[in-house]
Amino acid sequence: MILRAYKVQLSVNNKQQTLLLQHIGCARWAYNWALAKKKESFDKKEKIPNAIELHRELNKLKQSDVPWMYNSSKTSPQNALRDCDKAFQNFFTRCKKKVKGKKGFPKFKSKKNEKQSFRLDGAISVESDCIKLPRIGKLRLAEKDYIPTDCKILSATVSKRADKWFVSVQVETPDRERSNEKNKVVGIDLGIKSLATCSDGATYENPKALKKNLKRLKRKQKQLSRKKKSSKNYGKAKQKLAKLYYHISNIRKDCLHKITSKIIDENQVIVLEDLKVSNMMKNHCLAQAISDVGLHEFRRQIEYKAKWSGRKVVFADAFYPSSKTCSCCGWKNSDLKLTDRVFECKMCDMKIDRDLNASLNLKQIYTGSSSGIQACGDGSSEKAISLSPSVKQEFNKKSRVYILKR
Ligand SMILES: [Zn+2]
Repeated sequence: MILRAYKVQLSVNNKQQTLLLQHIGCARWAYNWALAKKKESFDKKEKIPNAIELHRELNKLKQSDVPWMYNSSKTSPQNALRDCDKAFQNFFTRCKKKVKGKKGFPKFKSKKNEKQSFRLDGAISVESDCIKLPRIGKLRLAEKDYIPTDCKILSATVSKRADKWFVSVQVETPDRERSNEKNKVVGIDLGIKSLATCSDGATYENPKALKKNLKRLKRKQKQLSRKKKSSKNYGKAKQKLAKLYYHISNIRKDCLHKITSKIIDENQVIVLEDLKVSNMMKNHCLAQAISDVGLHEFRRQIEYKAKWSGRKVVFADAFYPSSKTCSCCGWKNSDLKLTDRVFECKMCDMKIDRDLNASLNLKQIYTGSSSGIQACGDGSSEKAISLSPSVKQEFNKKSRVYILKR
């Protein structure tokens, strides 16, 4: 069984909207209350109360301090408490890993956040055009027959973004049949110039959604900064800005989904570079370009879609010089600059597009050989060939490849 989530827009009326906002309020209150409790214990170096203990306490509190919580489903604050647990766990993991910079202590949720949400579990059912939630009742789905009606539903998250309401339903579905196995291996070089260059020659341009809309975005931001805070016009300008952000993220997501679905559909094994996106984001010049392309999102989509379709994803180590190595003979050009768009080999005289060369190298990490290597017959090609058995063993064990030395 695998977990899948289906997100659909909701069509809600005013009454329903009030109910949903009440649930969001409950979740936010519970989260912030739990966070304050946990922070108090954390500062005093006492044992931090967990979600179950806090829920017991919250139930008592409902009778006296927060009776309005009875109007909403009890699973909304319950899940918020669980989320708070998770936020602390993640914080402790980051501390243990000794991540440089900020550790990201859990933050309080603000009413002013552009994205608001709550999660429910329990008696949830889906029909072709509506979803039934506990205490809220039936809500109309903007898209018919998208969420499967025959699966076990684990939870539903209702969220609000830029004036629109959405529900994301997490379901348990049986593993998809793996009869459509392909025998193609593809290496993919991710970049900023072209979003993805595949070893089979396909290239995918990135939509540059942000860059195109940057002028509009800057104008809207300026308009917002000129408005008096907490005035009505400020609220309006903020809403306009949020809509534009939403528009941009939709263009980006749509493009990424199309590309990743196509790649997953056509290939059995996908070899990617294990880019440290967070490290690249530290480079100020690259940061905007990278966040615009959505490299992280690309990788996330490839990983989960591969899981659904029974494909393999292989990662080459971030230090593997895929761009600097000749995909034909294995010669290494250590002087290759970021601006060199064409790779020229001094050993075998090959001229090839820089990104295509990198993607071919990535593919060879998995296949361990190519027609090019045999054709070259160069002494240095042995390295590439002898590398393959150990690589494959590692891959079988952990399903991730890390090559540190070459
Ligand atoms: Zn060469």
